[in-house]
Amino acid sequence: MTLDNFDEVFPSERACFDFVFSLKWPDGFRCPRCGHPHAYTVCSRRIPLFECRSCRHQTSLTAGTILEGSRTDLRKWLRALLLVSRTEEGTNAVQLSREIGVTYKTAWLMLHKIRRAISASDAREPLAGIVQVQAAVHGRPHNPTTSLHQQESPLLVGASTDAGGEPFYVKMKLVSLKHMSGKLVTRSGTKAFTDDHVKADAHDLHIVAGRFSSHRFKSLLSLFNETRNWLNATFHGLERKYLQSYLDEFCFRWNAVRSGCEVFERLSRVCFGLR
Ligand SMILES: [Zn+2]
Repeated sequence: MTLDNFDEVFPSERACFDFVFSLKWPDGFRCPRCGHPHAYTVCSRRIPLFECRSCRHQTSLTAGTILEGSRTDLRKWLRALLLVSRTEEGTNAVQLSREIGVTYKTAWLMLHKIRRAISASDAREPLAGIVQVQAAVHGRPHNPTTSLHQQESPLLVGASTDAGGEPFYVKMKLVSLKHMSGKLVTRSGTKAFTDDHVKADAHDLHIVAGRFSSHRFKSLLSLFNETRNWLNATFHGLERKYLQSYLDEFCFRWNAVRSGCEVFERLSRVCFGLR
């Protein structure tokens, strides 16, 4: 799926609707309350409602998802997901508003919701097995001092790796300043990371809390360099409060590609509340 063939694959709202339906109910409708396989369709709304023929529970394709209550066309949403899925570029609110013809405010809100779904899906997948964790810093890449500059954001890059140390699932999480000693992440900082993001039974955990340690994990640092390049190219005047969701977005794409998924489909599933 690319921007070039989007109009072919999704020529109408109906085509988008069918796509989401097939993701949500690959074997046909299932009532989310009682599991009954038949529903009446109530078409008085823009997005049809399904009423279970057994228990009368009403549901829609977007119930309980980030699209619930949105007045923006499904087709614009899917186009937004495709733009976010582009591995080299991603998108920002200015580009998105231009591409799909919505206001900047709407585009910004859509991206915010998409990133929220991404972060929630990441939270459900802790690192496991062999885990490497490497400290890094965002901002002012050529700051040679040992103290942290106020424009610098410390973070930990963590990965589940194969037996050869090759990462296959990554996370990048900002470290609270209370867990920093100069540019070094303290033990309380690495503990907070492992408590929140590493499975308790991870059997082989290696943490490098300083950036310039001779044991540093170079593949994780180079992955973070890629992230930084993307951040700098895509967002101007990045606010720290949004940095975490951008990091999650970058990792989401990387993880999807690494696992052999099509990013657009994986993102659609995540945004429609599916695994
Ligand atoms: Zn039912």
